[in-house]
Amino acid sequence: MKKIVLVDDSDVILDIVSQALKMYGYEDILRAKDGQEGLQVIKQNQGNIALCIFDVNMPKMDGISLVKEVRKFDNTTPIIMLTTETDKSKIITAKEYGATGWIVKPFEAEKFIKVVEMYVTK
Ligand SMILES: [Mg+2]
Repeated sequence: MKKIVLVDDSDVILDIVSQALKMYGYEDILRAKDGQEGLQVIKQNQGNIALCIFDVNMPKMDGISLVKEVRKFDNTTPIIMLTTETDKSKIITAKEYGATGWIVKPFEAEKFIKVVEMYVTK
């Protein structure tokens, strides 16, 4: 099974999303705390990633820039953005750069997994 890469600067969100994924059988999760770290993780695991999940607002490199950077070498891996109501407008830019979908925080695990299942097959 391929990996899911989760990038968010909030430990709480990282934990919640990881738990939700594990609850539904997605065990192989790579976590990163900012866009720079995320980019490194993605480069190191190229070809072995089923799905990326990016927060929008993060230090060092935000989620939008991260999408742009990843799409320079990977055009196919789905990228889901985690957004808040206030940064919904940034979704348009994220989509232009190649983001695949998004989910608005806060979300219920069940709803979140439904979005994940649109892109990943176990
Ligand atoms: Mg954030």
